[in-house]
Amino acid sequence: MKMVFLGPPGAGKGTVAAKAKDYYSIPHISTGDLFRSNIKNKTELGKQVEAILAAGSLVPDSVTIAMVKDRISQPDCEKGFILDGFPRTIAQAEALAEMTELDAVVNFVISNEEVVERLSGRRMCPSTGHIYHVKFNPPKVEGKDDETGEDLIQRDDDKPQAILHRLEVYTAQTEPLIKWYTDRGLIRNVQTSNSMSPDAVFEETKKVLK
Ligand code: ADP
Ligand code: ADP
Repeated sequence: MKMVFLGPPGAGKGTVAAKAKDYYSIPHISTGDLFRSNIKNKTELGKQVEAILAAGSLVPDSVTIAMVKDRISQPDCEKGFILDGFPRTIAQAEALAEMTELDAVVNFVISNEEVVERLSGRRMCPSTGHIYHVKFNPPKVEGKDDETGEDLIQRDDDKPQAILHRLEVYTAQTEPLIKWYTDRGLIRNVQTSNSMSPDAVFEETKKVLK
């Protein structure tokens, strides 16, 4: 199964992908995670994109497309993959269509108010990548990763200034992809809200993918 998870920042793409990758036995490829690990390891790519991520702007298409092309040509992607956070522009979607044929695009639908509430409470573990929320999905011990006990962090781009900018970027650059993929018969909508548990959202996702 080759699929894309689409939706605004904070829609729950990463949270559902963490469950779906085990269920479907396919890799979860988050372009945001790939950039963050390059930044952490101080690679050339990491140095190139660090300020862009901190501001909540988009990394140039050419850089992002090359990174994804390399990743999905690895042997573990032969049977499928979940692309989380890619494509984010029409140019990226066109490039992806040339690389491979998708089975589905899951579009996570959520209100702007709920997105802001989710992003401002998001915490993550920089080494395991586990995602938490201070209210909706708290760790067992406050501020610590459930698995390793490491300190959780708040991403720079989850601070108020960057959140608003990211939502504008989403509306201008990424939202047009809903129509683009609808026209190609690939969109599967999943309605979500903060009163729905991540498990309930995952159940809906499985339903629309059947
Ligand atoms: P979120 O899950 O909150 O939507 P991500 O982790 O997917 O955020 O992305 C974090 C940042 O990484 C983005 O704000 C952007 O700077 C960069 N990024 C991730 N994916 C892409 C992409 N497909 N194109 C351009 N920039 C990207
Ligand atoms: P995305 O990858 O789309 O940016 P995340 O999966 O990182 O979104 O989720 C954003 C925030 O919302 C995280 O803090 C996460 O714990 C929380 N979250 C995810 N799913 C739900 C849900 N169903 N209800 C409430 N909060 C959620």
